[in-house]
Amino acid sequence: MKIFVVNCGSSSIKYQLFESADESVLAKGFLERLGTSEAVLHHTAGTQQHDIQVEAPDHSAGLGLILEAITDRRIGVLSSLDEIDCVGHRVVHGGEQMHHSALIDEAVIEVIRENAELAPLHNPPNLAGITAAMSDLPKIPHVAVFDTAFLSDLPACAFRYALPKEWYTKYHVRRYGFHGTSHRYVTLRAAELLGAGVDKINLITVHLGNGCSMTAVAGGKAVDHSMGMTPLEGLVMGTRCGDIDPAVVFYLARRAGLSLEELDRILNKESGLLGVSGVSNDMRDCLAAADGNADAALAVEIFVYRIVKYIGAYFTILPGCDAVVLTGGIGENSLPIRRRICQGLQRLGVVADEERNGTIVGGKAGPITTDDSSLPVWVIPTDEELMIARETQAVVENNK
Ligand code: ADP
Repeated sequence: MKIFVVNCGSSSIKYQLFESADESVLAKGFLERLGTSEAVLHHTAGTQQHDIQVEAPDHSAGLGLILEAITDRRIGVLSSLDEIDCVGHRVVHGGEQMHHSALIDEAVIEVIRENAELAPLHNPPNLAGITAAMSDLPKIPHVAVFDTAFLSDLPACAFRYALPKEWYTKYHVRRYGFHGTSHRYVTLRAAELLGAGVDKINLITVHLGNGCSMTAVAGGKAVDHSMGMTPLEGLVMGTRCGDIDPAVVFYLARRAGLSLEELDRILNKESGLLGVSGVSNDMRDCLAAADGNADAALAVEIFVYRIVKYIGAYFTILPGCDAVVLTGGIGENSLPIRRRICQGLQRLGVVADEERNGTIVGGKAGPITTDDSSLPVWVIPTDEELMIARETQAVVENNK
């Protein structure tokens, strides 16, 4: 089966074409700066990467160009679009309605549209991608894979905020969580690698990329998660602040005369590693600067401290913990951050293995703790696109 995976952002389209038989990637790429005069399509087929200046005013035009590249005689991998069997779409917010991936029909489109209110930056471009792809590839099944689905069965004590009940019933204010596809992928992979049944495994999965989040997994199911009604809550991220006292917002509105829009922008785009360090939102830059720059050093310290604190909390609420799993760009690659997380977890029985930490990089999976560490810490590279392809295949086969 050939599965086309699409991830539409407001100004970009990422895609991968999978052959399900061996889960190989036939082609992949991304179109960036969509809607501007500087749109570029980066298309990779096999080992060849092509960077093509394109005119892509909207998602429909962008997707058309991607499908042309895939079937192009010179740089393509298919002779016709008819070879594509199904399409998997990443959709950020499925609200309280979507607990699983679903075949896209009018009802599913309506759910995505309704939840655009809760994810105004994500659901509308996701929907634009779905509309364009369904029009270009009308005869095959399209599947929506929701970022929130894996996190949609949290217990009420974890998803409800201590706010007036009406804010939940009328305005849907609650924890939804994000990165669910990544947390689900590493949960399944951890069960495989640790030789445990998925329905028995207890984990703390930690996704550390530009966005950072943590999930407590009991018996293979998510029971708590650090991101909230929006991705702003929880861990310190590249540019997002994570947990703060909500009264900071009222105080700064009054004291510094900042508008709601400015506060929204600063907490989401100018805080986190960038805000504290004044150097960069990128962990590599912060680590490089930390030696002679106290602000950069503090940014890294707060980042690690928050992670360790959350792991302690999740360790307490879980019935047991088979492993802590680190993933995402930082989790998969940053030896100093992994070392510091392990050091912070010594009280939980974590014994770091420096040699293993040095070798589990560049897409490798494995433990970075010693065999007698009572709480193992694993690094497991995430693969959200592959997860979307697998989900898409499963939904299509179930609906045959
Ligand atoms: P996104 O969330 O956008 O998918 P990634 O998962 O690629 O992002 O993670 C980006 C983060 O990973 C950045 O902070 C970057 O510094 C960090 N990162 C990537 N490679 C390394 C590395 N070799 N060492 C340290 N940090 C790294």
